[in-house]
Amino acid sequence: MAKQRTKPDWLKVRIGHGPRYVRTAALVKDLHLHTVCEEAQCPNQGACWEHGRATVMILGDACTRGCRFCAVRSEQPAACDADEPRRVADAAARMGLQDIVVTSVTRDDLPDGGAGLWAETIRCVRSRVPDIAIETLIPDFGGSELALEQVAQADPAVFGHNMETVAGFYSRVRPGADYERSLGILAWGRRRGLIVKTGVMAGLGETFGEMAALIGAIAQTGCDILYIGQYLQPSRSHWPVARYVEPAEFDRYRDIGRRGGIKVVVSAPLVRSSYYTEEQAAYVAGKRGKV
Ligand code: SF4
Repeated sequence: MAKQRTKPDWLKVRIGHGPRYVRTAALVKDLHLHTVCEEAQCPNQGACWEHGRATVMILGDACTRGCRFCAVRSEQPAACDADEPRRVADAAARMGLQDIVVTSVTRDDLPDGGAGLWAETIRCVRSRVPDIAIETLIPDFGGSELALEQVAQADPAVFGHNMETVAGFYSRVRPGADYERSLGILAWGRRRGLIVKTGVMAGLGETFGEMAALIGAIAQTGCDILYIGQYLQPSRSHWPVARYVEPAEFDRYRDIGRRGGIKVVVSAPLVRSSYYTEEQAAYVAGKRGKV
């Protein structure tokens, strides 16, 4: 097993446990919610929860895929919980959220991939908190346009789907996913008039050139928002970190994305796709006429 690399200083964060963090943690537990913050051991959990922001994961905590970078359990999932949309809406209301990120495991076992519960969750949250900005980070639904349309009709503020890594790594790192299909989902969302977002990890072994090509391909889809962060290995049985990318290199990726026409590019070691940024909030508010 590859020797674990020592984390550089720029990746060392102190997870604060302020009063709002404690309240958020209690609520998440009380409402039996799954969060990516916990499942993915996100380094920004402290900052986000202190701001009352959490990324809720719906459709259970077991995924039908097995991405090698992901900490979520990969096994036959349990049946979906029809009450989950109400619980997510309850959490959003009780946490006093202005924005929420909803994501899910991939449910290749369901005829609609879970799209129906996705749309129901968005509607439930909006009925409880009418002015909330709902960001969706969807699976690929096997490329089903019917499923994508169900989510789109619920009018999410941000329509997100992560590319995660470069084309050459898909078969080894993201089995069951398809690079062109995922690019196609971004382009579909753009044609549908949605604000489209994607997230990418660096440090899995890709070259600078491969990352630049990926950013170029994302720009070609008309994607509005791109987040790029350092890959961190969830456990020793997951895909190893090939290198810790220097902050200066993230800056170069940011510049490539902006030159390619992507409106919002957030690129730095600790960036995660559901990380809150004023830049994104201002862009989305501007596009949705909320300023
Ligand atoms: S599809 Fe998503 S939740 Fe499932 S293993 Fe891959 S990254 Fe994790």
